[in-house]
Amino acid sequence: MHLKRILRLLPSVFLLAALTLQGQEDYKTGDDNKDVKLHASDTRYDVNRFKYNPIPRTPKNIILMIGDGMGVSQVFAGMTVNEGELFLENFKHIGFIKTQSSNNYVTDSAAAGTALACGIKTYNGAIGVNTNGRPRRNIREVAEKEGKSTGVVATSSITHATPASFVAHQTNRAMYEAIAADFLETDIDVFIGGGYKHFTDREDNRNLVNALEKKGYNVLRDMDYITKITHGKLAGLISPEHPPRYSEARGDMLPKATRTAIEILDDDEDGFFLMVEGSQIDWGGHQNNTVYIVEEMLDFDRAVGVALEFAAGNSETLIIVTADHETGGLGLNGGDISQGTVDGEFTTGGHTGVMVPVFAFGPGAERFTGIMENTDIARRIRRLMRN
Ligand code: MG
Ligand code: ZN
Repeated sequence: MHLKRILRLLPSVFLLAALTLQGQEDYKTGDDNKDVKLHASDTRYDVNRFKYNPIPRTPKNIILMIGDGMGVSQVFAGMTVNEGELFLENFKHIGFIKTQSSNNYVTDSAAAGTALACGIKTYNGAIGVNTNGRPRRNIREVAEKEGKSTGVVATSSITHATPASFVAHQTNRAMYEAIAADFLETDIDVFIGGGYKHFTDREDNRNLVNALEKKGYNVLRDMDYITKITHGKLAGLISPEHPPRYSEARGDMLPKATRTAIEILDDDEDGFFLMVEGSQIDWGGHQNNTVYIVEEMLDFDRAVGVALEFAAGNSETLIIVTADHETGGLGLNGGDISQGTVDGEFTTGGHTGVMVPVFAFGPGAERFTGIMENTDIARRIRRLMRN
């Protein structure tokens, strides 16, 4: 076969492999309670207002926060249940991104994560590689090159598609062990999430936890210890695979991990880049489970509040909050803001192709408005970091 033709076929081969392996993702099935009405009494929280005086300058620190599967309906479901307010309302620069991947109107989290991390459109299933399977530099790596400290925080396994896109370069998102090994190839300062077993229980029998410790990482599995770390290198691997959902023992791990990561990264005079993912908003969408979506949405918003508190205090930090795609085709067919109740209905158990929101706060925020491509986020962050 002609070489060009083989190269053109490669992405479809990867895609087929990705689709086969994705069948093993068990978070995509669960209770169907889409007609449930929520009450806010146990989740309601107050939202602080943070002031930012726009000084035209480039940010020293950049925090990119991704709500996986977080469309406008997911945001507003959370806002409704929190009786009409979210930390997100502190953001005055707002836009939308188109989420289509190189080979599909409806993206998966790998292609979308790669678009947000590397600024390229690629095929569904790709982690940090282009349509030919070649590695492309992500913005965390750019930050590293610019002398900044870097970190990644997620409520999924740290090897899962979204966080992986900011660290690894693999042709298929299901290559968790190869993705875990890629962490050793970086200078990342902090990562907190699940996925311990991909570092220890491996086909190649390597023990990556030992290797991380040799590289100077504090490898910890308990949030009580993780939150005590204030400097140095930290690998927080809090569960064998995915951490549980918010209401099932995970609790406020995400806001806490966000605060810990900022505390550590803030030591660097050259600034830092941090990616924070609310991974499970997507899983609530896959399960057509409004309660799950709202819990995860509000947990993610509280992590946004932690980042805002830091950014408002120094006026040299840019926060960008966005999503990789929408999940579930969620519609809000009824609700009551004063009661904090909402009635969600779904059009699919998968992702949808709609635009998703972008919220920016801090120096450079004005560059993240209007209707953009998902690839523009990485491109504009890259430009700001190279200034
Ligand atoms: Mg994700
Ligand atoms: Zn998904």
